[in-house]
Amino acid sequence: MHDNKVLNNIVLKYREDKLAHAYLIETNNIELALKDLKELLKIINCPEEHQKSCHKCNLCNLITKENLPSIKIIEPDGTSIKKSQIEELKNSFETIPIYSRFNTYIIKNADKLNASSANSMLKFIEEPHPGIIGFFLTNNKDIMIDTIKSRCQSLTINYENKSILDSLNIDKETYQKYQNIIPKFLNEIKNNYNLNNKNLILTEFPERKDIENILKLIFELYYHNFLKLIGREYNKDILNIYQISDKLPIINKKLQIINKYLTNMSYNVSMELILDALVLEMRGIYE
Ligand SMILES: [Zn+2]
Repeated sequence: MHDNKVLNNIVLKYREDKLAHAYLIETNNIELALKDLKELLKIINCPEEHQKSCHKCNLCNLITKENLPSIKIIEPDGTSIKKSQIEELKNSFETIPIYSRFNTYIIKNADKLNASSANSMLKFIEEPHPGIIGFFLTNNKDIMIDTIKSRCQSLTINYENKSILDSLNIDKETYQKYQNIIPKFLNEIKNNYNLNNKNLILTEFPERKDIENILKLIFELYYHNFLKLIGREYNKDILNIYQISDKLPIINKKLQIINKYLTNMSYNVSMELILDALVLEMRGIYE
């Protein structure tokens, strides 16, 4: 976050009391942007005068866990963001926040607002309330509804694509081993050969760190296929690991599933259980 000039600039505006009421952020990585946004919201709302990430106070912890009632994060329900989601947001923001300075909403994949939800949203941003700030996150603002775009301050946050070896902190040899096992693993999920394909990974990689890396790599594989399908820049090397023929909605679902289990891994659950559940859920998509 300290390196994120765009968001740091919002902090400066906040200190000058010149916050916009709605920001449209175009980014190549919505999850990272969300993570940075949460840091920004801590700086703005934290009761302690904090500069860096605050882990002490209750408010900041609630922001990390996305459990603060005055911060609402909305993402597409299926293929679109529904009007009912926006109505619910508006209702919950009728009260002044108790613990934080602002009521804040974050709309992920804001290009997925459909006509009626965008319309409902529009009334909300046309009559800005001083206690409410909004962030619309999108991979592509060109496909956003114009009436919303024109009422937001537009920003761009692009994250550098670190090499996969650097981000996983592995050497080429290990990467090669992961690359060998991933096609076998994904093929077995797709073709439903047997119920024990977790062993494919576990016999060769019993270590938690490796399993986590393999899941991260599978995530990257789907993510770059996703980027390719929506016409964004993608990493060709990662796509070479395994040929994916899934369509966009399936890829989206798989990304969500893998992401969920990557999060679960940090809770110290057994790797066997995680792989079992992951395989079952990934298979469920095809049924
Ligand atoms: Zn704090």
